[in-house]
Amino acid sequence: MKSHYRVVVIGGGVVGCSVLYHLVKLGWTDVALVERKTLTSGSSWHAAGIFHALNADPNIAALQAYTIKLFKEIQAESGQNVGLHMTGGINVASAPERWEWLKAAYRIFQTMGIDTARLVGRDEIKAMHPLMDVSDVLGGLYDVSEGHVDTYGTTYAYAGAARKRGATIIENNRVLELKAKPDGWDVITEKGTIGCEHVVNCGGLWAKQVGLMAGLDLPVTPMEHHYLVTETIPEIAAMKEELPLIVDLEGFTYTRQEGKGLLVGLYERNFKHWRMEGAPWDFGIELNQEDIDRIAPELEIGFKRFPALQQVGIKKWVNGSFTFTPDGNPLVGRAPGVRNYWTACGVMAGFLQGGGVGLSLAEMMVHSEPSTDIWGMDIARYGGWAANREYLRQTTGQFYSRRFVMTYPNEQLWAGRPLRTAPAYGAMTQNGMRWGVLWGLEVPLYVAPSKDFEETPTLKRSNAHDIVGAECRKTRETVGLLDTSAFSRYEVTGPKALTWLDRVMASKIPAPGRCALAPMLAPSGKLRGDLSVFNWGDGTFWIMGSYYLRAWHMRWFRDHLEDGVSVRDISDDWVGFSLSGPRSRELMEAVVQNADVSNQGFRFLACREIDVGLSRAKVGRLSVNGELGYEINVPASEHLTLYRTLKKAGADFGMVEIGFNAMLSLRIEKSFGLWNREFTQVYTPGETGLDRWIAFGKRGFVGRDAALKEREKGAKRRLVTLEVAAVDADPSSWEPVWCGDKMVGYITSGAYGHTVGKSIGMALIDKAHAEVGTELTTHVVGVERKATVIAPSPYDPTGARMRI
Ligand SMILES: Cc1cc2nc3c(=O)[nH]c(=O)nc-3n(C[C@H](O)[C@H](O)[C@H](O)COP(=O)(O)OP(=O)(O)OC[C@H]3O[C@@H](n4cnc5c(N)ncnc54)[C@H](O)[C@@H]3O)c2cc1C
Repeated sequence: MKSHYRVVVIGGGVVGCSVLYHLVKLGWTDVALVERKTLTSGSSWHAAGIFHALNADPNIAALQAYTIKLFKEIQAESGQNVGLHMTGGINVASAPERWEWLKAAYRIFQTMGIDTARLVGRDEIKAMHPLMDVSDVLGGLYDVSEGHVDTYGTTYAYAGAARKRGATIIENNRVLELKAKPDGWDVITEKGTIGCEHVVNCGGLWAKQVGLMAGLDLPVTPMEHHYLVTETIPEIAAMKEELPLIVDLEGFTYTRQEGKGLLVGLYERNFKHWRMEGAPWDFGIELNQEDIDRIAPELEIGFKRFPALQQVGIKKWVNGSFTFTPDGNPLVGRAPGVRNYWTACGVMAGFLQGGGVGLSLAEMMVHSEPSTDIWGMDIARYGGWAANREYLRQTTGQFYSRRFVMTYPNEQLWAGRPLRTAPAYGAMTQNGMRWGVLWGLEVPLYVAPSKDFEETPTLKRSNAHDIVGAECRKTRETVGLLDTSAFSRYEVTGPKALTWLDRVMASKIPAPGRCALAPMLAPSGKLRGDLSVFNWGDGTFWIMGSYYLRAWHMRWFRDHLEDGVSVRDISDDWVGFSLSGPRSRELMEAVVQNADVSNQGFRFLACREIDVGLSRAKVGRLSVNGELGYEINVPASEHLTLYRTLKKAGADFGMVEIGFNAMLSLRIEKSFGLWNREFTQVYTPGETGLDRWIAFGKRGFVGRDAALKEREKGAKRRLVTLEVAAVDADPSSWEPVWCGDKMVGYITSGAYGHTVGKSIGMALIDKAHAEVGTELTTHVVGVERKATVIAPSPYDPTGARMRI
């Protein structure tokens, strides 16, 4: 053990060892892993070792595919056998909607380049797994590259390969304390103090405590999980081939062959947390007492699915613990607000995801950014609020118990809600507003026609389709009122505010009294934001963006901060409403006394302080749906008053209250992109059309060199608008787009355009196929549909309506 390393990785489970391996692989060899006992002493020793391809987040599915390819590589490098059983695996559907979902998932696999999967019918499933009762099975998604590994062997293979490349592993040495220093950390361990620049929390079952050592309360908690292993099953003993892995999605169980018997794991609905504050420090290679009564309902389903289980004894029960986050995805990346403190924890499936997690974290540390879009597991997708014990208990419990339960895109789940509500929430609810949730905040979806209205969960158009359609049409005909509390707002002040904005934003910074769209880039030229900047004219600027990116944005802003500028997240202090539609000006005139809101007095993209009703509001003349519009921002305490003022005055102008569902439809009719759909951290301005807003002539902004290079070379693909010949469902995202049988791109988002009467998709398409009029196809919920490239902005292509 040296007294100083560049990086200290805390925790020698599969994830810590993978992080260590990837750091040395990417060239950082002065790294050490410190383990409390011996490697695998947390969850890793007793996992079932299963890996499979399916994940609801396609980016994470791609990283899982990377992990699977890595097993042979680390085995060869380390000389340690990983015990690879590439048996293939089948996700089985026994409900019609699930079968539809699997068919859609298969197409998304194609988009991700996962070419090892195919759909299989009931007979083929029975032939592959003769022990299974398939009488109610409708079909499955089979992937040859699924199976299981030996958990001990795999962890030691990562570790051995890392050692060979120069990493140090220090076992039987608990980290007791972390002390921040100006240039990094002092890691106080049982064997002495180690200095380092960076610390990585791979603490697994102890991640909570290792977070608290740096003042971070992470949204992570251990939960109990069971599997059983049977005695020898004679039919299996007689088989030549190993059985494939089965995930019975309606049955709550997963199964693989273990020796000559079966291993059956369960995700029970009656979940149980285990040591929410983290495992005890003296916890060893131990298991929890099995709790058969608690898991009995799911076990019964499993025994029906595999009748042979009824004839054999159970050789081994495993009731172990592993960690969960509110959405079940890991916490990876640099912790916002804590210098050089990184996390790779909350990894629910370390053998399946460990490789991808290790790679992504190492890329972030060594290259400053990951090569794939890892938003779905970025630690900055949560704020401190998510660590609240009751929130964590409800959301992780919900995730665990619904692990194999189908969740529809339009389904609203209950856990941790309502947490945060804008002040007009109660009044809007009275008026029939239905709510979704974003970063803990209730966001309006649509106004239901009656108290009893229930939206049917579906992959297709729901019974709220026409309600949303009416909101869209009314907005385009008269005026729509939208609660904009779910926009983030950052206040930039100080003598250097303008210079700073000029450096971090790639666009021209608007003149006093003006606002503008402002793309933000990484040094690599990839996108970091599709923000709006407001220059209020008094030395104060606002940046506005998506609410759920608050911690992510603030981490970036802090990283680029300089003396003489202050950036404050004011999203909880300022909220608002937008008015949009042809009659929004008349309505504004009715509630504004001290300003001329006409096109002469308040031009498109102007912004200023105006009295709206009783409020001194900050107003911008813009809209997200291409209509004449005004975004009115007020202090949170005046939100309800503003709502009442606008509701009262709006009655004379046919105003309709709308939600985000209408907004999403209206914006796609304008081909306006969204963050994490059309714009992500791995796309570039040239591909997505955001280059139109870049001030290439401006010197010194972050990402300029790379953006100039892209402009010279030209982007290989383009964001286009597609008219899709959809019938009862609209494109959503990640569906492949085909020219004949060649995949030429994929859908980034889609919706029904109610006022243009078309199903619309936006898609990233190879340049050669991006011309208007090109006839392509796509798969909507697994069904092939014609998709034609149309000119952008099918509604009001010249943009005249928002400028009037
Ligand atoms: C019953 C069961 C079945 C499972 N089946 C599967 C499966 O089939 N497939 C799959 O992919 N996953 C499965 N898992 C999940 C899998 O086990 C975990 O995702 C994985 O082990 C997490 O690895 P980790 O490295 O993050 O954490 P851990 O394995 O918990 O490792 C953390 C390590 O950090 C060390 N540590 C903590 N604090 C300190 C400190 N202060 N100082 C020094 N060292 C410290 C601990 O000693 C420990 O060794 C299963 C889990 C269970 C319980």
